[in-house]
Amino acid sequence: MPRTPLVAANWKMHTTHEEADRLAREIAAGAAAVQDVDVVVCPPSCYLMPVGAALAERKGGALGSQDVSEIVGTGAHTGDISGAMVRDCGGTYAIVGHSERRATRGEDDACVARKFEAAQAAGLIPILCVGETLEERDGGETDAVLARQLGAVLEQVGIAAFATAVLAYEPVWAIGTGRSASPEQAQAAHARLRATLAASDAKIADSVRILYGGSVKADNAAELFAQDDVDGGLIGGASLKAEQFNAIVKAAGNH
Ligand code: PEP
Repeated sequence: MPRTPLVAANWKMHTTHEEADRLAREIAAGAAAVQDVDVVVCPPSCYLMPVGAALAERKGGALGSQDVSEIVGTGAHTGDISGAMVRDCGGTYAIVGHSERRATRGEDDACVARKFEAAQAAGLIPILCVGETLEERDGGETDAVLARQLGAVLEQVGIAAFATAVLAYEPVWAIGTGRSASPEQAQAAHARLRATLAASDAKIADSVRILYGGSVKADNAAELFAQDDVDGGLIGGASLKAEQFNAIVKAAGNH
């Protein structure tokens, strides 16, 4: 099945209000110029509304959050931002399980699974991040780690939930390091993730977009996106430079 490529920008804890606004406009212009690629921008939460407005004005790109609370509803949860709030700000997507949150905010597989469920309950499309550390890769544990991380979410929400979800393979050792996975390494991991989903439902597995994330730049995007099971990218550092990011979006449009 042909899958529309998706390229998502994760700005992490970067930009001022003014920079966010400018970057969003430049990315929206780039996205509007490319056919058949879904572009998603995930700014810091405090800039969701202005970035959403800038994207909408130029009709280029959807809005997403970098995280979402696992708690549904409202209540005494200082600092949390619910899926409903992200929706209310114009968001369509939410990243869940980014390795930086797993590593520094204590988010384990069960917590990530609850966040995935909460995002969907609010009508958001989760972008579920999975990936192994260098130690795990060197120890030959990559497949087991991916199966465990994906399995926890499958157990929580069931395979049907993946009909409206996006997966992102993000090897931890490749994030922000300048050392991308090779196209072959990415393809092998993506094929493994798709096979795990296919064991429950082949049709859904075939339709799920699996993004690669980890030091994607304008000059290595094309060879990564050329892989059969790589359906776009989750871009950190390079998404802070519109020229770089737009070139990555263009590369996705060529596949
Ligand atoms: C990320 O933050 O998800 C990411 C992939 O970062 P980078 O592109 O900088 O490696």
